[in-house]
Amino acid sequence: MTPSDSSIPRRSCVAVRIGPVVVGGGAPIVVQSMTNTDTADVAATVAQVAELARAGSELVRITVNDEAAAAAVPQIRERLEAQGVQAPLIGDFHFNGHRLLTKYPACAEMLDKYRINPGNVGRGRKKDEQFATIVEIACRHDKPVRIGVNWGSLDQELAARLMDENARLSEPEPAAEVMREAMIVSALDSARRAEEIGLGHDRIILSVKMSGVRDLIAVYRKLAARCDYPLHLGLTEAGMGSKGIVASTAALAVLLQEGIGDTIRISLTPEPGGSRTREVLVAQEILQSMGLRSFTPAVVACPGCGRTSSDYFQRLARQIQDYLRQQMPVWRDRYPGVEDLKVAVMGCVVNGPGESKQAHIGISLPGAGEAPVAPVYVDGEKTVTLKGDHIAAEFQRLVADYVARRYGTG
Ligand code: SF4
Repeated sequence: MTPSDSSIPRRSCVAVRIGPVVVGGGAPIVVQSMTNTDTADVAATVAQVAELARAGSELVRITVNDEAAAAAVPQIRERLEAQGVQAPLIGDFHFNGHRLLTKYPACAEMLDKYRINPGNVGRGRKKDEQFATIVEIACRHDKPVRIGVNWGSLDQELAARLMDENARLSEPEPAAEVMREAMIVSALDSARRAEEIGLGHDRIILSVKMSGVRDLIAVYRKLAARCDYPLHLGLTEAGMGSKGIVASTAALAVLLQEGIGDTIRISLTPEPGGSRTREVLVAQEILQSMGLRSFTPAVVACPGCGRTSSDYFQRLARQIQDYLRQQMPVWRDRYPGVEDLKVAVMGCVVNGPGESKQAHIGISLPGAGEAPVAPVYVDGEKTVTLKGDHIAAEFQRLVADYVARRYGTG
């Protein structure tokens, strides 16, 4: 097994309870996601929330953008409960949240948390009134609130004021620095106002999402040093495919390594027809690869090279990875601790036996010019050598037997 350091010191912050889930206070970092269905379409939203929750999303956010969406929330909650889906639901509010939460008290009650964007609560004097209305409703229903500042909708009045103040300095800061400061001030001022209205200090989570990797790292470092609220991390508008995954990972890995971040969301643009659950799997993989949490048994596979004689080894690695993921909904309960399992699938004798011995169970396939046999290692010892046309099926059965033996309780 690859040595890993799971003892990254976490930034100290208060704990916020969202239904049965705890964010902050040293609790495991929580994975969350957001639907992209029309919330008023109850069937589609229920199906997607359930899909995200079953993929491992521990909190799911839905947009509550109009009256039809607000009216749909109680039905969504009830149908999810009927399916046994317990993931807390977060309502995302912009512009009209004060009106929707006032007019639809059942929506206010059924949601487990509200997300408010201070830049989109309202303009001028109305901004404070509308913000206060949402916070008062949160207090009345005992709901936590995420104050989620977003680069794309930063409070323009605040940004303009800070820019003016900066311009009057004898040595003004660069504009980018002032804008980052505006993100932080927007979050902290909003949190202070929410507490003045009556929201508990332990009912507030903050986020300051930006779309640039280095901007995001800089702004979260500063915010983390200036408050003890739990922080929701995410690179906003990360993009599609590998670009979104790489950018999100680059940003979040730096912060997580510094102990910053209590809940994460990976904002991927899905491929047309692609599953929304991709963002959940990427979030899990970031946390697991950093040794911060375990979700699914890990497959260690070499990249392959000129010594691999065919794509057989890639196909076996993929097959084993898919098999392990498919088993997890059942294995999670039946075999406690199985998420820590490490399986090696290696392409030749150069690193194959060594890496296989370091895994719980590993196989070293024959490379070009090697005898067509595949030694299997279990807990560091060579136990059997597979050959013939059914190596994949036989290895899969050996993995299943190993899991039952090692993690079975009965
Ligand atoms: S283990 Fe063998 S096949 Fe895999 S990358 Fe190394 S040399 Fe190439």
